[in-house]
Amino acid sequence: MAEVLVLVDHLDGVVRKPTLELLTLARRIGDPVAVHLGPGADTAAKVLGDHGAVRVLTADAPEFAQYLVVPKVDAIQAAHDTVSPVAVLVPSSAEGKEIAARLALRIGSGIITDAVDVEVDENGPVVTQSVFAAAFTTRSRVSHGVPVITVKPNSAPVESAPAAGSVEQLTVSFSQAATGTRIVSRTPRESTGRPELAEAAIVVSGGRGVGGAENFPLIEALADALGAAVGASRAAVDAGWYPHAHQVGQTGKQVSPQLYIANGISGAIQHRAGMQTSKTIVAVNKDSEAPIFDLVDFGVVGDLFSVVPQLTGEIDSRKA
Ligand code: FAD
Repeated sequence: MAEVLVLVDHLDGVVRKPTLELLTLARRIGDPVAVHLGPGADTAAKVLGDHGAVRVLTADAPEFAQYLVVPKVDAIQAAHDTVSPVAVLVPSSAEGKEIAARLALRIGSGIITDAVDVEVDENGPVVTQSVFAAAFTTRSRVSHGVPVITVKPNSAPVESAPAAGSVEQLTVSFSQAATGTRIVSRTPRESTGRPELAEAAIVVSGGRGVGGAENFPLIEALADALGAAVGASRAAVDAGWYPHAHQVGQTGKQVSPQLYIANGISGAIQHRAGMQTSKTIVAVNKDSEAPIFDLVDFGVVGDLFSVVPQLTGEIDSRKA
């Protein structure tokens, strides 16, 4: 069967969920071959194999950690030249998109970024994107070369599909450009214990209606009851109520969770651009005319200071 390359996003061998989602999509196209760069391939191989990777190509070298992007492009190109895949799937992170674009240029292929679904017909992969602030859904295919596709988190379920996952060494020779941009320092983000916003299955957000930083613990409590990430509108972020890293929208993070709960958010187009592809949308807003109600699956017209604590209490009581 034809093989499909999947670039693995991991932290020292701990595979991140979007990669497992890519394996689900890759299996629709052919046999997934995972490309694992950096340390921890043996740990990762078990998980990758459990989710359908027939092979795990691995390379480890200091260049991957010391220099930006290009060493990884050299490696995925080496994997491409070794495997001759029918498609290459890459996570739609900032780094993933840069790697994918550089790879596509090098191998003379078309690229589609920020896919929210990948299906296959007799002519190969057909990619769904949500574009123009999610106002349109497009379906397209790469017409030239091996399709290089970056896929947004939460675009496919994680499925168990046991396969061999056999680890094979990938030989990579680094190009002259590989050492062009050196990383001079790293500062780990402070951990909140909550899931990463862009990857979370559930996001609970607060907007101007939250009224102040001192009230955001209300939003956090609901998020914690659901095991969710916390988001915020730009109005809340600009007011200094919540850190910018949590802003959802056109100039913030794009999220596509299974469930998005908007509290005290009006639903401006720039906010919608970041969350409109969420599978189920719930809003709590005291104004029944708020535009957010145009796109919700469930809406509660009410004061969030009354509704949100009741919701949190109800969820907690059902977990007890
Ligand atoms: P508001 O629009 O003020 O809405 C607050 C809502 O809270 C109202 O609907 C109100 O009825 C409700 N409310 C008030 N009190 C309560 C209560 N007690 N209980 C329940 N409901 C209550 N915005 C983003 O979010 N993300 C972006 O990335 C982004 N990028 C932008 C880029 C550009 C170039 C521009 C021009 C704007 C951008 N914006 C962005 C801003 C956007 O246009 C809106 O101003 C912003 O989204 C409004 O935030 P909000 O919904 O929290 O506030």
